[in-house]
Amino acid sequence: MKIKQLKRWPLAIAVALLIGVSAATTTVLAESSSITVRATVLNVRLGPGMSYGLMGQVQRGTKLTVIKQENSWDQVRLAGNKIGWVASWLVDQNEATTTSARTATVTSGANIRQYASTSAKVLGTAAAGDTLDVIYQEGNWTQIAYHNTAAWVSTSTISLTGKTVTLASPEQTQPQSQKAAQTVSAIKVTTNLAVNLRSAAGLNAPVVTQLPKNTTVTVLDQSSEWYKVQTADGKTGYLAAWTVTVPGTKAAKAATNLAEATIVLDPGHGGSDSGAESTSGKYEKTYTLQTAEAIGAALRAQGANVVFTRSSDTFVDLAPRPVVAEKDHADAFISVHFDSSANANEASGFTTYYYNAKKDMQLAKALNHAFDTNLSMTNRGVQFGNYEVIRNNTQPAVLLEMGYINSDKDFAHISSSAYQQQVASDVVKGLTAYFKAGNHQ
Ligand SMILES: [Zn+2]
Repeated sequence: MKIKQLKRWPLAIAVALLIGVSAATTTVLAESSSITVRATVLNVRLGPGMSYGLMGQVQRGTKLTVIKQENSWDQVRLAGNKIGWVASWLVDQNEATTTSARTATVTSGANIRQYASTSAKVLGTAAAGDTLDVIYQEGNWTQIAYHNTAAWVSTSTISLTGKTVTLASPEQTQPQSQKAAQTVSAIKVTTNLAVNLRSAAGLNAPVVTQLPKNTTVTVLDQSSEWYKVQTADGKTGYLAAWTVTVPGTKAAKAATNLAEATIVLDPGHGGSDSGAESTSGKYEKTYTLQTAEAIGAALRAQGANVVFTRSSDTFVDLAPRPVVAEKDHADAFISVHFDSSANANEASGFTTYYYNAKKDMQLAKALNHAFDTNLSMTNRGVQFGNYEVIRNNTQPAVLLEMGYINSDKDFAHISSSAYQQQVASDVVKGLTAYFKAGNHQ
């Protein structure tokens, strides 16, 4: 790590970049499209980010209709009248289709109902001035995205804004009013573990009976978190939505959290900032980029969303680097550097730096442990480091010093593809352990 005094990055460019980024993160699709699941198993979450709870899974090849996009996550319609979020980098974008729906403003107080009927259960209310995401419209009834499910409001209580969102995939289009209840009631779900059938929706409700794993039951009604079901022998009760598998999905092994994670990789230095030098005059900036690229390839092979603060030999100031992590809601920010001692060949080994113990320590420990297990270089441990790219970072962040560039012994590793690949696979192992332990915001 050697930071030279450098001219400031032109502020105007930085501001323009940030405005561009923030404008791009929330999009109501003018022409919505369908997507096809590319991951073997894809987690569907309650919100746009891996920190949101899991509401189900879908299999590779499943087609889903996109309602809107936010922070690289797609809000999609699912079988069974549900709305959830999937990581957009784990799906392929399909051609846009043309069945149109719209966004709307509420003109007078409206009941939000479970089905298109005045006798349907009221899920909530909308006040005049509220904006609704309309996903389907059918005469007197308008279907909206409401929390994590689809719901209906009377068309007379809303005013279309003129913005268009689009539904796709006819098979995903909600059946019309009268058919809705029947369609929902025809859904069968399978328990994916031994579960309690309860007399009401809620974990405190009395247990009617226990159902073994793989019991198929018929859904009679549903809220966002609970299914009212009927068993084959006629018992009715409630099951938590997360304990059952819905049609078209399979309770296979969970998608790894790494596959859903956004990782920002920060190759140190670049361009006019060469970083430290080897005894042979080779620049740190060259190896930080090579190593970060190896890490990026290994993470992408696991399905992770990888963002680089630089991907070529260009100068990037320190200040914008952590901003990338914040804007992309990164689950981890990893800065890659190589150390340098005052005199050549007087120090050796790798160090894992954190700044904020509460936010960064578990990430630093997980990565350092993976390196410690697999790298032959001396481990100088997890240490506090007052570096701007991790100090000014809102996301879990570490700075790796992966050996002393002016140690000939270390440089033989640093400059080798084998070492860079090992570091990459260790980052995958470390992050996998980190997310598996539940360490994400
Ligand atoms: Zn450096």
